[in-house]
Amino acid sequence: MKPETIAIHAGNHVDETSKAVIQPIILSTTFERAADGTFPGGHIYSRSSNPNRALLENVIAKLEGGVEAAAFSSGNAAGMSVFQSLPPGTHIIAPDDMYHGLRNQLKNLFTGILTFDFIDVNDPETLQSYIRPETSIIWIETPSNPLLKLTDIKKVVAIAKARGIKVVCDNTFATPICQQPLALGADIVMHSTTKYFGGHSDLMGGALITKEKSDWWLKIRQVQEMGGAIPSPMDCYMLTRSIKTLPYRVRGHVHNAQLLAEYLEQHPKVEQVMYPGLTSHPQHAIAKEQMTAFGGMLSFTLKDGQDEARRVINGLKLFTKATSLGGVESLIEHRATVEGPDTKTPFNLLRVSVGLEHIDDLIEDMEQALR
Ligand SMILES: *Cc1c(COP(=O)(O)O)cnc(C)c1O
Repeated sequence: MKPETIAIHAGNHVDETSKAVIQPIILSTTFERAADGTFPGGHIYSRSSNPNRALLENVIAKLEGGVEAAAFSSGNAAGMSVFQSLPPGTHIIAPDDMYHGLRNQLKNLFTGILTFDFIDVNDPETLQSYIRPETSIIWIETPSNPLLKLTDIKKVVAIAKARGIKVVCDNTFATPICQQPLALGADIVMHSTTKYFGGHSDLMGGALITKEKSDWWLKIRQVQEMGGAIPSPMDCYMLTRSIKTLPYRVRGHVHNAQLLAEYLEQHPKVEQVMYPGLTSHPQHAIAKEQMTAFGGMLSFTLKDGQDEARRVINGLKLFTKATSLGGVESLIEHRATVEGPDTKTPFNLLRVSVGLEHIDDLIEDMEQALR
């Protein structure tokens, strides 16, 4: 089935007792045992599994083309579960522009437990040179945040596979509507479902999706269940509801982002626009190879530097100055400020999460702010 159909129908069935068309929210933390001691409903206790989470995990797994998904209380909790599933001493290779929250997690919570290098994973020679016998994970994130750099998934997978290394791909920016890393050879996909899956800036969540039910995956399931960083039934319900419109929303985000990128690119005050859908993007060829659409995120730099960036961001009326992404409303932020002192992000850069407002209104607002 196609994503639009999966998003609406996967796992959903009319509730047997109430005949409700949409699965009710099951808040009960515990489930009744039958006389023979078994659990006929398939659930025992809500930390281990819950009907709303099971439905959510099922639809997310199908959208990414995986065999199973595990839902978490945030994207960072999903990432944390990957790191916690690894034996002490494991070496991880991650991108030098990895999502800063996960980079900080590794540095602050896993120093002394795991070892890691943050490098340019898209350069084959650099990547090869950092691989050690104890390297077991190459982490990739494409397009990256906030520079919209791409990683050639197939190329990294080929290097990893030859050495028995697993590849985890943070697919938050692309969503499975634009890019399916498992089909390109990745082993596990990670999402912050806080972003496009949720789509309305009103819930936190994360997910991992696996290509196969390996021993490693079972360990991750243990971290989920025993660690307990699970989403509530209410959050699972809201996320499942949002996912039904994910394919259409993403299409709208992509449409607007492409047109806004093209508008900004020809503006005399703009230095550079970073969007994989532009032919000027240095990796546009890779984008066309591994993505079916180019996402809703873009960044741009201003010729007149940081002060001009601040002037523009403060002059906008429709774009809200806030971090995060993937919601229906357009957001803009001065990324270097968010990332803190060790940031490599240029100070004249603004990152935009292009929303679903009418593109004419977005461009008009940008026009007056740049004037
Ligand atoms: C937001 C984000 C995360 C972290 O997710 P949370 O839901 O905020 O914990 C990880 N990776 C990327 C690319 C993100 O944008």
